[in-house]
Amino acid sequence: MDIKKVEEAVKVILTEMGEDINREGLIETPNRVARYFQEIGSAIVTEPPNLKVFTNEEEYDQMIVVKEIPYYSICEHHLVTFFGTVAVGYIPNGKYVGLSKVARTVDYFSRKPQVQERLTEEIADYLFKGLEPQGLIVVVKGRHFCMEARGIKKPGAETVTSAIRGDIDKQEFLQLLNTTK
Ligand code: ZN
Repeated sequence: MDIKKVEEAVKVILTEMGEDINREGLIETPNRVARYFQEIGSAIVTEPPNLKVFTNEEEYDQMIVVKEIPYYSICEHHLVTFFGTVAVGYIPNGKYVGLSKVARTVDYFSRKPQVQERLTEEIADYLFKGLEPQGLIVVVKGRHFCMEARGIKKPGAETVTSAIRGDIDKQEFLQLLNTTK
């Protein structure tokens, strides 16, 4: 990314808002914003995490639930933050994955202009491919600043999306989510 170019773009936005881009508080802002976009867009230019899997030696065949994985993304319609948590449930078929790899997968797919629906699908597809489980479910909860702070202004409203791959009982997953609260 050409940081200087993005800095110039940020200066244009601030100037058009009526701001004095030379006042003290704003001097470093174009550079900070450019770096912010570089970081939040890192998934566009990097590879997804290597999913190191373990063999399921115990032949455990019940559902495994990993939940409350936080994510921070930007909505591709307004370039403002949406954030929330992800829960993943899967029934292994010979392979396990470490919690940190699930968290990294979530992190990776949230680091680009996104919509919550696609984020959910991409996490599900990537984990399903890497884990080859009997079944997998991903539930994403999100709060969208573009919805809360502008437009229809609904503070606190939460959007829930889900994706299912293979054979898995959604009811059992939801029960496990609630009993472990
Ligand atoms: Zn939006």
